[in-house]
Amino acid sequence: MSRYIATRAIRGANLITREAEALLNKALQEKGPDTPVAFPNTAYYLPTILGMTGREVSKLGELVPVLEHAKELLHPIPSPQCWTPYLGETLDSGMATLLAAEIIEAVRFIYGEEPGVLPGFHATGGSFTSPEFAAEGGNGTGRLNGPIDDIQLRSWGIQLVDGRMPGFAAIVGCAKSNEVAVKIVRELQKRNILIFLSGNVNGRSVIHQLMEEGVEMGYDTYIVPFGLDTLSAIYAIGFATRSALTFGGLKGGQAKDILLYNRQRVFAFVLALGEVDDLKYAAAAGAINYGFPVIADTRIPQILPTGVTTYEHVISMPFNEIEGKDDLERAEKLVQKCIETRGVKIKLAEVPIPVPYGSAFEGEVVRKKDMRVEFGGKYSRAFEYLRMVDMDQVEDGRIEVFGPDFSQVPVGGAMDLGILVEVAGRKMQRDFEPVLERQIHYFINGASGVQHIGQRDIAWIRISQAAADKGFNLRHFGDILHARFMSDFGAIVDKVQVKIITNPALHAEWLQKARAAYDFRNRRLADMTDESVEEFYTCTLCQSFAPTHLCLVSPQRLGLCGAYNYLDCAASYQINPTGPNQPVRKGMVIDREKGIYTGLNEIAQQKSQGTVQEVAMYSIMTSPMTACGCFECIVMLIPEANGVMVVSREDPSMTPAGMTFSTLAGMAGGGLQTPGVMGVGKYYLTSPKFISADGGFKRVVWMSSILKQTMAAELQAVCEREGDPDLLTKIADETICTDVDGLLAHLEAVGHPALTMDPMF
Ligand code: SF4
Ligand code: ZN
Repeated sequence: MSRYIATRAIRGANLITREAEALLNKALQEKGPDTPVAFPNTAYYLPTILGMTGREVSKLGELVPVLEHAKELLHPIPSPQCWTPYLGETLDSGMATLLAAEIIEAVRFIYGEEPGVLPGFHATGGSFTSPEFAAEGGNGTGRLNGPIDDIQLRSWGIQLVDGRMPGFAAIVGCAKSNEVAVKIVRELQKRNILIFLSGNVNGRSVIHQLMEEGVEMGYDTYIVPFGLDTLSAIYAIGFATRSALTFGGLKGGQAKDILLYNRQRVFAFVLALGEVDDLKYAAAAGAINYGFPVIADTRIPQILPTGVTTYEHVISMPFNEIEGKDDLERAEKLVQKCIETRGVKIKLAEVPIPVPYGSAFEGEVVRKKDMRVEFGGKYSRAFEYLRMVDMDQVEDGRIEVFGPDFSQVPVGGAMDLGILVEVAGRKMQRDFEPVLERQIHYFINGASGVQHIGQRDIAWIRISQAAADKGFNLRHFGDILHARFMSDFGAIVDKVQVKIITNPALHAEWLQKARAAYDFRNRRLADMTDESVEEFYTCTLCQSFAPTHLCLVSPQRLGLCGAYNYLDCAASYQINPTGPNQPVRKGMVIDREKGIYTGLNEIAQQKSQGTVQEVAMYSIMTSPMTACGCFECIVMLIPEANGVMVVSREDPSMTPAGMTFSTLAGMAGGGLQTPGVMGVGKYYLTSPKFISADGGFKRVVWMSSILKQTMAAELQAVCEREGDPDLLTKIADETICTDVDGLLAHLEAVGHPALTMDPMF
């Protein structure tokens, strides 16, 4: 342990805690102790403080004991003679720094000083920005991001658990040059590592550097600019803390467990660029508490392993001394070192195309003004179809383009496109076709400068001018699909060939064939009922984050994340027989109506380590299924209305339960069983088994309007099936009412069936 680092971290912690005290006292005088304090869009109060102390701070005055706690963690600066202290004191100082930093940021929010403003900066793709809206210019607020909201945390959740997103990098400071800054983030993006930016060196920040180079920052590109000072790095710690609370089923105040959870499950590290001052040392000591190592590109003393982090705690890699032919190569090596030090596991398929590739580019938006050409959307039709064919009909790696390429299409124009993927494999089955076909969306989206929306015959693909300039052409769709199917699904797919179709006659012919296949699949899925099978599937994928949560997936109830239906689980089991999806026999019936079976109960007891004793597949009132944190919707009882409301993850508005999605999510998740509250995948709403024991879809009295809009046709079909064709118009939404009184008035006025149904409990 380095005395130098200990000294500087302890000094930094003393300094920042004093600053927090001064600021808090000033705010108490000017604003009063009852002034509300909060970070926006989170149900976790001030998350680091909540996690570490268990305090649910919502008023200014409640920060006083937190500050006292931080002060107790401070230590005197070591004397030059004494060589004994250090790791414990340094870690304490780090913790004091985190608490003080969160206090300061919270007070700054009261004064409207957070999130910071950056002239000329336009963040894109905040969580409520639709692709269309972002495409026309983003939100353009000029504000830096500040803390990440709960909705975004959850929507990243599934990628964090399935390993598509291995972890996060908290970059603090300023790189040697703009070029190096860009290279570092591109290297991280390529590996799908989330990037959090904060801090500066002499007033210049890595955020300035990326902005000057035109790098798109925002949730969509996995690059989140927190703020221009070191303190804003606290939002990375808040994110880490909430991961443990959201997915790990931990509660505020379980400090040690939260720290251990992060060490074991959250692959994060700090990359300190440029000179490290006392505050940065203190903040770094805070990160080490979480098991996050610190890598600096300057000469500083190192801290070797003691067990708090997986390997070294602090690594010094002076940038100019890194071996490499130029700065770009040095930047690449620096990133490699970070990954090695944290022990991040990276799965990377080499995709032979002329633009960068990785799932960090999945959410990227190609705006109309930056677009070279589009396929599908308003002006043309694009479809994608994957089918299984005989072994001898596939030549592995063959990619053919039938018809003209887009060189004749004017810039910004549109053309018809068909993508036909033909696969063969000894283990391949027709049931897997839709599972594999849906991957096309993720695979194509991974290319930088290419945007993919939708699926089947409503696919919509854009190629940016920049990607076209680099030589990206139609054939590259085939290269991507071949490489990814072979690398990700090599267990079932032995050969893949791709046909890209733009020729009008062929396009029409294959569109028709594709539609016949979609139709066949729809009917086949529709024919499958829970009664027609003996086995359901488990999904324990989310246990890496929510250790007691188990999804039971049946033909008529998909996983709550919406990403795993029954056939997906079957395919996943075939692909990986010891993986997270295992068949489970239903066993003997205990209650057919509620969907309670001996086999399902046994597996639930076993996989939840005894937390759950009984699961009812079709009831929200009796033994409902638990939830991790990735649910698409929350269903919740509204006792006054004798029905339930359904809130979409995409809906930020208030609900008749008096809580927003964020707050509700805190009640629904964490692997606990809460009668009256349930997280579900949105397609479960259309199932005849949707809370069928409690009265089914007719119980829905309120529903986020985004669901009504985006699932209009499916929900209409449900209403007809339920014998009430006008039901959808009788269901309220946030544009009609956001409180119980308004809801009841609406239900009375339209004669909603729930009012006359049996009492729910
Ligand atoms: Fe997680 Fe359930 Fe989705 Fe599996 S089905 S990934 S356990 S939410
Ligand atoms: Zn989950």
